[in-house]
This record gives sequence, C-alpha cells and structure tokens, in this order.
Amino acid sequence: MKYSNVFQPLDLGFTTLENRILMGSMHTGLEEDKDFSRLATYFEARARGGVGTIVTGGISPNRAGWIAPFSAKMAKQKEAEKHQLITESVHKYPTKICMQILHAGRYGYHPFIVAPSKIKAVISPFTPSAMSVRNIKSTIDDFVNAAALAKFAGYDGIEIMGSEGYLINQFIAPRTNKRTDEWGGEFKNRTRFPIEIVKQIRNKVGRDFIIIFRLSMLDLVQDGSTFDEVIELGLALENAGVTMINTGIGWHEARIPTIATMVPRGAFTWVTNKAKKLLNVPLITTNRINSIEQADDILAAGHADVISMARPFLADPEIVSKSKNNKSHLVNTCIACNQACLDHVFDKKTCSCLVNPEACHETVFKKKIPKSSKKVAVIGGGVAGMSCALTLAKKNHKVILYEAATQLGGQFKIAQQVPGKEEFKETIRYFTEQMKEHGVEVILNKKANIENLDDTFDEIVVATGVTPFMPPIDGIEHDKVISYPDLLLNKKQAGQKVAIIGAGGIGYDVADFLTHKSHAGKTEINSFMEEWGIDMSINNRGGIKDSNIAKNDRIVYLLKRSKGRFGANLGKTTGWIHRTNLKKKDVIQMGKVEYLRIDDEGLHLKVDGETKVLDVDSIIICAGQRSQQDLYTKLKNNNRKVHLIGGAKLANELDAKRAIKEGYEVGLEI
Ligand code: NAP
Ligand code: SF4
Repeated sequence: MKYSNVFQPLDLGFTTLENRILMGSMHTGLEEDKDFSRLATYFEARARGGVGTIVTGGISPNRAGWIAPFSAKMAKQKEAEKHQLITESVHKYPTKICMQILHAGRYGYHPFIVAPSKIKAVISPFTPSAMSVRNIKSTIDDFVNAAALAKFAGYDGIEIMGSEGYLINQFIAPRTNKRTDEWGGEFKNRTRFPIEIVKQIRNKVGRDFIIIFRLSMLDLVQDGSTFDEVIELGLALENAGVTMINTGIGWHEARIPTIATMVPRGAFTWVTNKAKKLLNVPLITTNRINSIEQADDILAAGHADVISMARPFLADPEIVSKSKNNKSHLVNTCIACNQACLDHVFDKKTCSCLVNPEACHETVFKKKIPKSSKKVAVIGGGVAGMSCALTLAKKNHKVILYEAATQLGGQFKIAQQVPGKEEFKETIRYFTEQMKEHGVEVILNKKANIENLDDTFDEIVVATGVTPFMPPIDGIEHDKVISYPDLLLNKKQAGQKVAIIGAGGIGYDVADFLTHKSHAGKTEINSFMEEWGIDMSINNRGGIKDSNIAKNDRIVYLLKRSKGRFGANLGKTTGWIHRTNLKKKDVIQMGKVEYLRIDDEGLHLKVDGETKVLDVDSIIICAGQRSQQDLYTKLKNNNRKVHLIGGAKLANELDAKRAIKEGYEVGLEI
C-alpha cells in the first residue's frame, strides 16, 4: 500500500487510531461563536477527509487562563453540552477527537492573567499576578474539571498544552518560574505543576481516555529547559499517566521562526527523534510537515509514531483521503504563509486560508450547481484567474482560460523564486492539476483580445493582473535599472552593489533574494539551524546558541521615501522574520529618501537635505504595480458581460489572499 506507514493504525491499548495523521490544534475564532454548528461542520469536513485524530483549538479551564477576553472555556456542564455537537459530527467517521486544554498564563491578553512569578511577557501588555499556592491548587482542579467535562462532551481524550510558553511551560522553565516554594526553584519543584495535572486528570477520567501532553522539547528562549530535563519530565509524565507526548517547538516569544514558509519542511522532526530514543509512549512530531508523502518518510525514518499537521488541514480538508486514493497531485498544499490563518487570528478575525477561502467558512459560501451551463472565458492564468476557472468548472460551466505567457502562475511564478518561498509552486501545481481534472480548457501563449473573444461566450472574467510600476525618476531607462520580475525570473542579473527602490513586501523579498547564501556542505535543515542559532544538542538551556550567517559579500541598499519603521506593513506573524533576516545580512536601510536621477555614476539621492550618490551596479525597482485593465474597459464598452478580479481590479493591495477569494466568489456567482 502507498504510504503504508501513515495508514498503519496505532493501537493505544484501549482504543485504536485509524492512521498516523493528527490534525494539530489551531485556534480558528469559531470556538467563541455562540452557534457551534459552524465549528462542528469545519471539524466534520476534516473527519470526512480521513484524518485519524483531531485536536481542537485551545480551550481554557478557567477565566484566568483565557487567551483573550471571553475566549472559549470549559468550566461548566452547560459549556460542555455545546461541545456534544462537535463530537457527534466527528464521530460519524472513525476519527478520534481530543479537546486541547490551554491555560495562557502570562500570554493572556486581558487584566486577569496569572503566572508562577510576576514577570511580564514581551508579547502581552499585561503583567501577571504571581499565583498563590491556593490558586495553583485550584487551577489544577480546573484542569481536572475541564478534562472530566471533555469526557462528558464525548471527546475521546484531551491534549494538555504544556509548551509554546503557556502557563505550564512557564512553571517548567527557570526563565519564568522564580518561586522559592515547592512550586519553583529546583527542577523537581518546577515540574510539580504539570505532573500533578496529569496525575489528577488520569485519576479522574480513568484508563480509557486519551491524554496527550504537548511537551516543550525545544524552547528556543534563554533559560528554557535542557534536553536532559525534557526527558526527565517526559518520563515522569509517562508515570503520571499520559497516553502520548506531542512535540512543542519554540515559545511564542522566541525570535526564531518555527512554522513560517522559510522554515524547511520537516525542520524539527530531529527533536522528536532524539526524544524517541529515551521515552516509551508514542510520540507525535510536528512543524512544517505539509504532505502525506513527507509524513510517511518521517515515520519510515523512525522519527515519530504520529505526525501532526495543522494548517495543511485548512488548505485541504481532504489531504488524507486524496493521498490515500492516489490523488496527491490534487491536494491543495499549505504554503505556510500564515496570511489568512494566524494573521487573521492575531487580528481577531475568523481564521481562513489563503489558498482555500472555504476553510472555517464551510457554511458561509453557497455552492449551487446551476440548471444550465454557460460558456465562460477567463483571461489570465494567475491565481485569481485559476481560482475562478476552477470554481466555474466545478459548477459544470464550460470554461476556457487564456494565458498570454507560456506558463500558468502569474505573480506566484515570480514569488516562488524567492528563497524560502518555494512552496508557492505547489499552489500553481494544485490549480493546474485541478483544472485538468475538471475539464478547464487552458490556452497558453495566447493574448485574448476583443476580436478573439467572440459572442459564443456568455460571460468573461478578466484576471489580467498587474504590471510593475516604473517611477518617473530621471534616468529610469538606464541599463543599471532592472524591474523585480526581470530579476527574480533571472532575465537580468544584478551586480555586486545594488540599490532597491521600494521597501514593501517585494523590496524585502528582493533583498533576501540578493543576499541569500546557504552554508556550504550542510543540509538545508542544518544550514537553517546555524543561521538561526539553534543548538541541536539542546545542551544549552532553551536550545539556543549564537547564529552563524553565511553572508553574501554583496552590498545591498533598501530604500524608501516615507519615514517610519521599515517593514511595518509586512505580515503580522512573519514581518519580524523578514526584518530580522535583513538585519542579519547587513542590508543597509535608508528611509526619507528623495530619488534625484540615475546615471553611470549610480543612484543620486537626497537624504536629510544632503545629496548623495550610491555607487551601485544595479537598481532594482520594487515600487508597486499598476492594474492591467485595458481589455476589461474595451469589453465593458462593447456591452459584454464581464467581471474584473485580482490585481487587475486593485493593484494597490496586490494580495494573493484577496485574488484567490475573489476568483472563487465570482466563480460561485456566475
Ligand atoms: P508595496 O508594499 O505597496 O510597496 C511599494 C513600495 O514602493 C513602497 O515601499 C513605496 O515606498 C515605494 N513606492 C511607491 N511609489 C513609489 C514611487 N513613485 N517612487 C518610488 N518608490 C515608490 O508593494 P510591493 O512591495 O510591490 O508588494 C505588493 C503586495 O504584495 C503587498 O501589498 C503585499 O501584500 C504583498 N507581498 C507581501 C510580502 C510579505 O509580506 N512578505 C512579500 C511580497 C509581497 P515609499 O512610498 O516609502 O517610497
Ligand atoms: Fe497555510 Fe497560508 Fe492557508 Fe495558513 S493561510 S493554512 S499558512 S496556506
């Protein structure tokens, strides 16, 4: 059988997991919805898609543990009753579902937060109160109560969130636990809290209930745990009664990327592998695993017993069943961009997915198959056009997609050239294969125009995208000037000294492209660990060490006219990575710049009233884009039924999330 390791059931003694894939915990924002049917439908779609086990988003055992005001909590029977809809929906399938109990501790975003010691976290504006012994004991009771209520609600088990820097982790690490009583100080005292929680929960729920403990195996912060401590705690948790141990990587306040797209696939399974040699219960590994093929390889290598994937289930609820049925080429792969999942949650918006607008909105979009089929032309094979063409074809319309270039992909074709954005090619593959599957006729290398779009088309969708904007600087035609698509698509090469005009998302990407260098003789994963200062022995507390950058000897200037912080508009959860990255690579950033002219001497500027010449070989223009609307205007003037989507509609906020969603929505509308 293909993927025989993944599809090998796991016998836990009292119950069996259908396969080795676990949908990891993700907060979606639906947990706080009064009507749980939307959350139930979301989970049911993943269960129908064949996942072995689901772990819900984090649910607090009490008010102090809220991640934000009025977050989901499990403290009363009434709260548990609502969850029955979820467990019943999931249990229509062989999937198991566990509820995650998460106490945010000092990471909570509200004034009632508590922690082992009164130490403020950099990522919350609130200072926690130090817990009294009475409060510690009542919090343990609350964990036990939440677990019992989860059992009452029909869950097959629970996951105790003991990592990522939340309350339990705050007790374990000397970084945040400065207590001098029996709950702090030496290791035995710092770990008393998690061990008591597990012991007392096991006593309460009995043998036949899954208890997963998410153990922080690599804290990635100063004064975190050492690997010896991780193992000692893991063994104690086994004695206390855990069924499985999940791998936690990195506290939320860590300044090392752990799940963003530039983290190599499967970058942290070595951590679980290290623990697997010393622990006895089944271990779950996680972080940047986004295909069943890769999951199978990790299991085959013996790194873990179960693979946790979270965001890949937003991108495609059927990732497991498609792979099982030899249809991996049709899987919509998570590209780890965070733009519609984590960034939304941090913005207090309902989670979704950039490549799958239906995620967490399963009951929102109405999909009706029309009585009669239409003939529709889609002009442009970027992500907006492809998303629209696919949606139309799924509704049985006859769809012809015209693309002027020799390949599909549009802006994604350019983006995939940026180091660490290679995943973008998966989205092009997904749409290409799906369009083939659903009978979209794709015509490449053909510029559609008013003449060849004859009257046989009932409707036309224009997704002609954007052209890079070339600002009117004196000398912009000079040989030194290169547009960002020409650079990234390797049509033109930059010299040793380079100025980048424009410091938006693309300016940052270009700076990274120009300065990227791997460590010679090291694997991609080892090179990443060096670059971000990760101590693979985990002998150092927290598993951190000095970073070691493979520096490129290019001199790169990143320029902008405006004042204010560089990279302020980058992604909420990924912007800091790009900013840190360029700093490490010594990219020179200059704001409040006035561009005067470009000539053989280089780029002439005025900064703070002073005139300067940057003696550069190349000047890369990343000054935004303009919509290509000519065809749309002509069609409209000819009274054709025409729709405009994606960058062609709005270039200012050239945004793949909006483009794919717009294509999908217009496809549903026609
Ligand atoms: P952008 O973010 O709007 O940045 C354009 C840059 O060009 C600005 O820094 C602007 O800075 C400069 N500029 C604008 N008009 C100019 C002019 N007339 N002369 C000189 N400079 C000018 O656009 P982008 O970088 O092309 O990115 C497009 C979109 O792609 C973004 O909105 C983002 O959503 C997405 N994207 C995001 C990422 C990411 O988050 N990592 C990466 C790639 C793309 P000044 O006005 O200060 O000079
Ligand atoms: Fe993955 Fe991006 Fe979708 Fe989040 S928004 S699930 S990171 S593809």
